Amino acid sequence: MTIGIVGGSIAGCSAAILLLKEGHEVTVFERSNKSLVGRGGGIGTTPALMKQIRADGLINGDFALFQINKMPFIGKVKSHEPYGKVAWDMPIHFNVFQWNELWQKLRHNVPNAHYRAGIKIVDAKSMPNGKVELTTHSGNKAHFDLVLFADGYQSLGRQLLFPEKKLKYRGYILWRGLLKESEMDIACPLSDDILRLSYKGEPGHNVVYFIPDQNGSVKEGERVFNWAAYIAIPEAKLDNIMTDKTGKIRSGTLPPGSISQANESWLKRFLSQHIPSYYANIVNKTKDSYIQVIYTLDLDSYYKDRMCLIGDAGMVVQPFTGSGVFKGYNNAKDLITCMKENQNLNDALEQWSKAQLKTGKRLLALGEQMEKAFIWEQLDFAKANEQATKTWWKASVSFPENFNYERP
Ligand SMILES: Cc1cc2nc3c(=O)[nH]c(=O)nc-3n(C[C@H](O)[C@H](O)[C@H](O)COP(=O)(O)OP(=O)(O)OC[C@H]3O[C@@H](n4cnc5c(N)ncnc54)[C@H](O)[C@@H]3O)c2cc1C
Repeated sequence: MTIGIVGGSIAGCSAAILLLKEGHEVTVFERSNKSLVGRGGGIGTTPALMKQIRADGLINGDFALFQINKMPFIGKVKSHEPYGKVAWDMPIHFNVFQWNELWQKLRHNVPNAHYRAGIKIVDAKSMPNGKVELTTHSGNKAHFDLVLFADGYQSLGRQLLFPEKKLKYRGYILWRGLLKESEMDIACPLSDDILRLSYKGEPGHNVVYFIPDQNGSVKEGERVFNWAAYIAIPEAKLDNIMTDKTGKIRSGTLPPGSISQANESWLKRFLSQHIPSYYANIVNKTKDSYIQVIYTLDLDSYYKDRMCLIGDAGMVVQPFTGSGVFKGYNNAKDLITCMKENQNLNDALEQWSKAQLKTGKRLLALGEQMEKAFIWEQLDFAKANEQATKTWWKASVSFPENFNYERP
């Protein structure tokens, strides 16, 4: 089959590798004409998924990551400065790494002949002969038996297929930054943990962990400290926070270095009041922080005619579920299984879409549980003991059976 893939990031490259292995004729269109490296920060997923990805040949050779074994819940209290008070060390199994590392390794396995960088798709149409016509920014047309939109949370494909579906702002943003370990004043106590730092009586929290450096070094002294603070911003104030240094209102993301001076100072003051001083100092030292607005999006179908949505182009789920990599890979893998099980492509797509909706809705439900716990009903870990924290967690969050990072 000839298959066109719109978007050459995590989901697009994963799908391309799997479909090429099945013998399909695949073309990936990626609007960016530069390497996507340098734009990402830390990303994580379960070790089970990493193992599967490797077994499927999506990545091979060395892969720089950290194995995370615990998630300490920490609060700010004077008696425990500068590192804060640990309410509970939750056992987990999780892998964290540079977004760049994952993208580069996936991209490496998509032969250049199948990856067309610098080509933006501006339209897609179902043709009377059953094919799909893609139009590029320069007006060229290309025809495919099947098209997968892997074009991210602001997907053109989703807008064309289901224009009534809109992103829903969740009432908070993710303010993020990276600091090289070599730029830290005092050695960091973090090793194999992801810290969740609660605020004092305010919604949201800050998540921090080390990732390997850009060159894949995992050595102490060369790691990169990744922090990400969830901060509640009422919808009426969103435009203000998303107004960049030049006065332009950005949608969805405010890239590194573009936050206005006034907003950056406000954000830094906020975190200094709410998180242990050691971590507040790291945030204050970070240059080029950036913002991602948190949205979700639910769907009733993953396809129309011969066009499908995969990765963030499908359902959009809260980031703390850690499911970004899982979704893109599983959407593509399931599609192949359904195509093998059904002679008829329409039957395959129908079966596939139903399965993706089921998984997507479970992840959205998980995202809502975590959002309630980690944003709106966030426990102040400074005031909670281990039992209270365990009770809060158990009552708040239950993972779907095929996606869980808790360790019994
Ligand atoms: C550069 C970059 C850095 C990221 N860094 C992080 C990170 O550090 N941590 C994290 O958790 N998540 C990060 N993400 C998001 C993460 O990749 C996704 O949430 C998730 O992994 C799903 O990936 P995706 O491939 O579905 O979507 P995305 O990764 O968003 O990729 C969509 C791709 O489609 C391309 N595209 C969009 N529209 C068109 C079009 N019309 N024609 C052609 N191409 C198009 C985009 O350029 C992009 O490469 C990043 C995404 C990008 C693009």
